[in-house]
Amino acid sequence: MFVYLNGQFIPHEEAAISIEDRGFLFGDSLYEVMRSYRGFLFEKEAHLRRLQNGLNALRLQVEQFDDLIEIATRLLHENGLTEAEATVYFQMTRGVARPRKHAFPATPASPTVFVATNPLQPNHLWAEKGIAVITVPDLRWGRCDLKTTNLLPNVLANQQAHEAGADEAIFVRDGIVVEASHSNVFALIDDVVTTHPKAPILLAGITRQVVLALCQKLELPFAERSFSLAELRHADEVFLTLTSSEVTPVVHIDQNEVGTGKPGSITRRLQEAFREHVQQFCQTS
Ligand code: PMP
Repeated sequence: MFVYLNGQFIPHEEAAISIEDRGFLFGDSLYEVMRSYRGFLFEKEAHLRRLQNGLNALRLQVEQFDDLIEIATRLLHENGLTEAEATVYFQMTRGVARPRKHAFPATPASPTVFVATNPLQPNHLWAEKGIAVITVPDLRWGRCDLKTTNLLPNVLANQQAHEAGADEAIFVRDGIVVEASHSNVFALIDDVVTTHPKAPILLAGITRQVVLALCQKLELPFAERSFSLAELRHADEVFLTLTSSEVTPVVHIDQNEVGTGKPGSITRRLQEAFREHVQQFCQTS
């Protein structure tokens, strides 16, 4: 497998970064994940927009920004992933600076830019049978809308889920359901497909946006409003959205069944609509 690192396409094993990279030392860095279906990058403009917003917020300028899609496409070709499903991982840090100081280096370092492709085996079992989740207190900072690599609370929450025999952890802040460790949360409450509105305390998922557009198209009532943990527990259906596994039904929350304990009919309709949307996207790309 080849990866892109700072202007070069090199074998994966040869890619290395400095121990003084600010991404490594401070988590002074952003990332993005796109999905490629048969070599076509899904919702690439939306992903690039989110990345650009993040770079602006971090005051990071990346020369290669306009070339990122070309770089990703070349990697998909070189790594033989144009007929398969894959994800593309992008990461940008504030680069290498010595000595270690919190403030930005006086002379800006050149950012570290890393792009890699990974084959993706969609988890059909998850999509078919649904998953179990736990709920945990949200201990994260106030700018979770930025896709930074400061993911320690997400890592610990997800690990806690695995140790409890579940697959994902939902963050609850002041009694409100925010999002999950690496996905957005939707609940069917009183026949309305409901998800937390965009806010600095959560990542505005690209898949979340696609699902809201599909609700509109299918004329399913939907709302972007905050809802409580109690509402989540009583919801008729719950599902998660994320780039690598689209719409994923949730059938257990903290060991209690959601609805009938099986993926619900609205979730199924959205899963199907998502697959059709992707097929159309591939046909017209
Ligand atoms: N929230 C968090 C915290 C995430 O890490 C992700 C995955 N990147 C999402 C939501 C879902 O975002 P997307 O649909 O863009 O993959």
